[in-house]
Amino acid sequence: MRQHFLLAVASMVWTACLSAAAQAAPCLIVTLTGTQSGPPIFNGVAGAGTLVRYGDDSNNCNAVQLQFDAGRGSLLRMSQVGVVPAQLKAIFFTHMHSDHTEGFSEIAQLRWNYNSTGPKLDVVCSVNALSPLGHTLSCSKFVQHIGDPLIQSGEIAQRIAEDKTRLPGGPADIVNLITFEPKNDVQVVWSSGEVKVSAIRSNHIPGHASYRVDTPAGSVVIGGDAGNDVVTPPRATSTSEQVERLARGADILVHSTMHPVMAPDNTSGMPASIYYRQSGTTDLGAMAKRAGIKYLMLTHLAPSLGAQRHGPYRIPNGPLTEADYKSAAMAGGFEGTIVVGVDLSTVRIPAK
Ligand SMILES: [Zn+2]
Repeated sequence: MRQHFLLAVASMVWTACLSAAAQAAPCLIVTLTGTQSGPPIFNGVAGAGTLVRYGDDSNNCNAVQLQFDAGRGSLLRMSQVGVVPAQLKAIFFTHMHSDHTEGFSEIAQLRWNYNSTGPKLDVVCSVNALSPLGHTLSCSKFVQHIGDPLIQSGEIAQRIAEDKTRLPGGPADIVNLITFEPKNDVQVVWSSGEVKVSAIRSNHIPGHASYRVDTPAGSVVIGGDAGNDVVTPPRATSTSEQVERLARGADILVHSTMHPVMAPDNTSGMPASIYYRQSGTTDLGAMAKRAGIKYLMLTHLAPSLGAQRHGPYRIPNGPLTEADYKSAAMAGGFEGTIVVGVDLSTVRIPAK
């Protein structure tokens, strides 16, 4: 009798474990926190950034939160999906262009203001990169000096006087900087539990890197502004061969893109050097197909949806629509799901 009772209890415990495991299915959410391309500004669109959240059903995929790039307005977009700077485990930069970095000062300031005593924020980016033209792209200097305007204005001293637990060096003090040398081979640059982030060198400006996040729920690649190492035609494609390798077998590819309508031979007035260093939408569709991607999230759209101009450049035949980007990507042969990015576009895997 006693044995039967014990068996029954054991079976109930086992069933409870199984149903907990079933409830706790891993999940991944990828949200575009900004989709604006380059220095231009248009209609409230935020600067480039991608929020990656991983967890399971029991925490609504919110156990680990990672930000990739932080263009203008990233903090506002994060707040719209309920994420505050204190929750971020790490932020990764693809390159040192303002449209990918200028939102970081707000994130760092807010975390310093309210969470100076909490864990440091890992900032992951390239080591200093020397351009053949003689200048140096430096993520480490960018980060070290992120709070300088607020130190100069006196605000940092004033706020420390109010609360002595705030770190003495200002917003830069909340950062744990992790730099790596971008290489043509994939390297792991950060990990936490079941989440692993790898990087590869890619071409746009010196120090540009692309990232891949692998989790038990799936994987996402953030290409950034990568383009081909051969910077002008003739070449096989405008996309990056390294990003293609990094993306092989991934579920989601988030990538900046330039619509073919802006080609320098098409009266846009855009300089060839700017046009050719981005990945064209049709070439990206072809690359996503070759890599076996399921979801292609187009972001950093040049030009923006509905814009009359892209900064100083004409848009031949007028503003572009979502359909114009979709058809350009499909012309490359991609048959998966295409998300023409607007701020807060989201893909969840598994889908609900
Ligand atoms: Zn950019």
